[in-house]
Amino acid sequence: DWIETADVIMAAVTRSRKSFPSRIVETRVPATELPVGGDPMLFEQVLFNILDNADKYAEPGTPTVVVAEARAERVIVTIEDEGRGIPAADLDRVFEKFTRLGSGDGRPAGTGLGLAIAKGVVEAMGGTIRAESPARAGRGTRITIALPVAEPSAAKFPAAEEEQALAGVALHSRR
Ligand code: ATP
Ligand code: MG
Repeated sequence: DWIETADVIMAAVTRSRKSFPSRIVETRVPATELPVGGDPMLFEQVLFNILDNADKYAEPGTPTVVVAEARAERVIVTIEDEGRGIPAADLDRVFEKFTRLGSGDGRPAGTGLGLAIAKGVVEAMGGTIRAESPARAGRGTRITIALPVAEPSAAKFPAAEEEQALAGVALHSRR
């Protein structure tokens, strides 16, 4: 099975626009296919968790930019905000369960699970996820997800004999 990255991005961005109507989210995705393997609902949740952070930890009015591209047998998705950023020492730690940076500065409450869930799902998809922030504090965060490119034709257009085999299984759903 495979899913089209651009479709999942648009679903997550649509959901984020409903949840945070005043946040500007820009998307840049190519017209070409970006097929990856995985569960579309889980992948959408990953992207939504990151968009949720971008909204929570960046000033009102600043944009979030989502870019997708194919590079060296990988589908690369980046989500970049112009928020407070993450200190260099904490860039890996934010993907651990229950990590919340700082305290008592009036940030909206969270459980510290959004990025841990994102990492779990991305790794189950065979990919990697990392966070970067420029050296100067408060100058934004970029989350980069890299996933193996799936072979789209394999799952979407089953070979004739494969299709016959599947047709013999009463409960099999073709999708
Ligand atoms: P939850 O997502 O479970 O509601 P949360 O947002 O606190 O809670 P994570 O999404 O896992 O948890 O993020 C962990 C921590 O990393 C956050 O509490 C915040 O301190 C920091 N963080 C995550 N994303 C950003 C970002 N875009 N800019 C600045 N800090 C961030
Ligand atoms: Mg979060």
